[in-house]
Amino acid sequence: MQEQTFFMIKPDGVKRGLVGKVLGRLENRDFRIEDLQMRMITRELLEAHYADLVDKSFFEGIATFMMSGPVVTGIASGPDVIKSWRTMMGVTDPVLALPGTIRGDFARAQENGAIQNIVHGSDSPESARREIQIWFGK
Ligand code: UDP
Ligand code: MG
Repeated sequence: MQEQTFFMIKPDGVKRGLVGKVLGRLENRDFRIEDLQMRMITRELLEAHYADLVDKSFFEGIATFMMSGPVVTGIASGPDVIKSWRTMMGVTDPVLALPGTIRGDFARAQENGAIQNIVHGSDSPESARREIQIWFGK
């Protein structure tokens, strides 16, 4: 099914110079990058994006991490891109993420408060629509 997903290269990915490698993985799979923007995350954007996590005890750790430097946000499109991108990212915890996935190849275990795992991707069509609206207003 032809669809769109929202993706992000988090501050750890940008700081470590992995932007090209991550975008390359999308392009290698023949997904189209429809929109792309580097930016600093504001508190409002972060709380809208992670609305389901705002009340968690670890949210402040996530906020410190996610606002520690610029991120690269984008929209990618292609057949089943939502699930495909989640598979390419690997699971949330880098300790469990399989080699070959972005998190499994580039991230390491949590050290200070937040799991720093290089990338984000929408987890469902509803999340994709919601996140594209939040970040790109469309
Ligand atoms: N996170 C964290 N500790 C947790 C759960 C989540 O630091 O116990 C961070 C982590 O960076 C994760 C993000 O919050 O990627 C969003 O969590 P989610 O469960 O949605 O994981 P994802 O969809 O990114 O795999
Ligand atoms: Mg998530």
